[in-house]
Amino acid sequence: MHELSIAQSVVEIASRHAGGRRVTRIYLKVGHLRQVVPSALAFSFELVSQGTPVEAAELDLEEVPAAGMCRVCGAESRLESFPLRCAACGGLDIELTSGEELYVESLELEEHPQETGS
Ligand SMILES: [Zn+2]
Repeated sequence: MHELSIAQSVVEIASRHAGGRRVTRIYLKVGHLRQVVPSALAFSFELVSQGTPVEAAELDLEEVPAAGMCRVCGAESRLESFPLRCAACGGLDIELTSGEELYVESLELEEHPQETGS
């Protein structure tokens, strides 16, 4: 269950940026290729956030679609499923341009909301 380790790092990152304040909302970007199950992540997050400044924060998950550039014909394709294949020529030599993201984009804190930067 890799959602648990993801949840753990999200809690760590958010706690570190919170600087002792309570976190009310976490904006998370997750690439499609990470194959994260949102409900499993929400459950894991609830579990590992207990007793931390992040406890009871809302998790705002945004999925980033997978996309890549074909090394053969140069076309950019949106990649929906495996195997990753160029939509223009059918080639499999794809350089990923998005879809592997997994990071905390920003946080909302209890007072004086602040950007975490990226
Ligand atoms: Zn191609």
